[in-house]
Amino acid sequence: MRKNIVAGNWKMNTTLQEGIALAYGLQVALNEKKTNCDVIICIPFIHLASIAGIVQTVSVGAENCADKTSGAYTGEVSAAMIASTGAKYVIIGHSERRAYYGESNAILKEKTLLALANGLTPIFCIGEVLEEREAGKQNEIVKKQISESLFDLSAEDFGKIILAYEPVWAIGTGKTATVAQAQEIHAFIRQTVAGKYGKTVADNTSILYGGSCNAGNAKELFANPDVDGGLIGGASLAIDKFLPIIEAF
Ligand code: PEP
Repeated sequence: MRKNIVAGNWKMNTTLQEGIALAYGLQVALNEKKTNCDVIICIPFIHLASIAGIVQTVSVGAENCADKTSGAYTGEVSAAMIASTGAKYVIIGHSERRAYYGESNAILKEKTLLALANGLTPIFCIGEVLEEREAGKQNEIVKKQISESLFDLSAEDFGKIILAYEPVWAIGTGKTATVAQAQEIHAFIRQTVAGKYGKTVADNTSILYGGSCNAGNAKELFANPDVDGGLIGGASLAIDKFLPIIEAF
């Protein structure tokens, strides 16, 4: 059965020392609690090896990976390099990567293949911008993102993917999708997966919600039958904000 997951996305925040302190503090806080979900922190590349070495029940992921295997791609970080740090996850297709770095569905397909080939679990992000939501096109958009990047995968490989629905208009804006909006599109995403891979694969796929998720709204969002947790940006940068989201399960 699918897992409940709370994943942090630190984005381009924290120096290495600050990051180590944050991850260590989170681990210490979790040592005293029983959690009912998997906890992942997706963190800057340069933090990966150090932090993977100090956490135990918190898993570590990268925020991106290259769409090439290796070679003359100055400044890029490959999936193999990420895996060699001890990281287990990688965010692929975050809306900030799509918008600011021109990452297309085709590029994200390559990244996903490389992540899987190197034993990383992709946290694959999908979601519509405000104009698309206002035009009622959100289902069409997420279906296109999923099908163009992921639907050439075998059912076995698709089964390794975590999906994160993040309405772009809700990321970092303080606006959250309503509980009903989140459930409606999560159910549509699961139905889309079922249409391609069948009900069992769809039922086993964790679909996270992301977009201004916080201690105040996590419980009601996670109570939706098709919302299996959250991808958390801003609130993952402070232990006292991130812990209550984990405890919402
Ligand atoms: C994100 O960046 O994935 C995100 C959901 O950010 P925030 O929680 O800050 O809206």
